[in-house]
Amino acid sequence: MSAYRCPVCDYVYDEAIGAPREGFPAGTSWSAIPDDWCCPDCGVREKVDFESTSAATGSA
Ligand SMILES: [Zn+2]
Repeated sequence: MSAYRCPVCDYVYDEAIGAPREGFPAGTSWSAIPDDWCCPDCGVREKVDFESTSAATGSA
């Protein structure tokens, strides 16, 4: 499972948690999220702008 962070507001989408509020239940993989999905917190950034948190921290 991976997590992805919004570069603007630091909202994190964790695949293990999903985004039930957005209609994505826990366990929804990042690849299953639509490309035009916007950050639910700031609404400014889209899926393609999110950064992998594992890449950002350097630890897997
Ligand atoms: Zn955001």
